[in-house]
Amino acid sequence: MRVLVIEDEDKMRSVLRRGLQAAGYAVSEAEDGEAGLPRGLEGGYDAIVLDVLLPDIDGFEVCRRLRRAEVWAPVLMLTALDAVDDRITGLDAGADDYLVKPFALGELLSRLRALIRRGRPPRPSVLTCGPLRLDPATRVVSWNGEPIELSRREFALLEFLLHHRNEVVQRTTILLHVWGDRPDEQSNIIDAFVKNLRHKLDRRFDYPLIETVRGVGFRLRCPERE
Ligand code: CA
Repeated sequence: MRVLVIEDEDKMRSVLRRGLQAAGYAVSEAEDGEAGLPRGLEGGYDAIVLDVLLPDIDGFEVCRRLRRAEVWAPVLMLTALDAVDDRITGLDAGADDYLVKPFALGELLSRLRALIRRGRPPRPSVLTCGPLRLDPATRVVSWNGEPIELSRREFALLEFLLHHRNEVVQRTTILLHVWGDRPDEQSNIIDAFVKNLRHKLDRRFDYPLIETVRGVGFRLRCPERE
């Protein structure tokens, strides 16, 4: 099994290399995103261990670009920051798992084994609603082929609503799935983001795309048959 390690700290990189080699992996190394990205894009790796904090292109961006280029090797991200936001950003960028530094080598090896055993993640399917198209793999949203720029949260909110198209989704459910388990976020934050989405999307439809269901939440209305 061939593993690509992208990590800028020399000591950490050599610990990873020796540990992975001792566990029987063939290891390629890159000391930053600039060097690691083209290697990853060449493909042929069974897994990629990717540090988040890199000097040039950060790990999130490396992962995003790999997925955009349809490279689907499982990605295990490493970070020193134990923040919910970072975990979400990593998973949004297409990472498959996440390990917070410092970690025990045994933990990394077992996570890696699990990822490789699970195999390549299937390419997530494109979500549509009439002429609206959201591709979770390439992170592109378009309307009749014309790209629409959304922020990360707007994208996550639209993706969640599209997964539950034509269903009423409760505010608390949306908060949990889009913002994570964060007690500091108020549920009215959703209104601001729904407003943005409406501004960007509704004018293209001949009916209100996102309905407010009073006292409950929201519903994304789509044509029943597509
Ligand atoms: Ca680093």
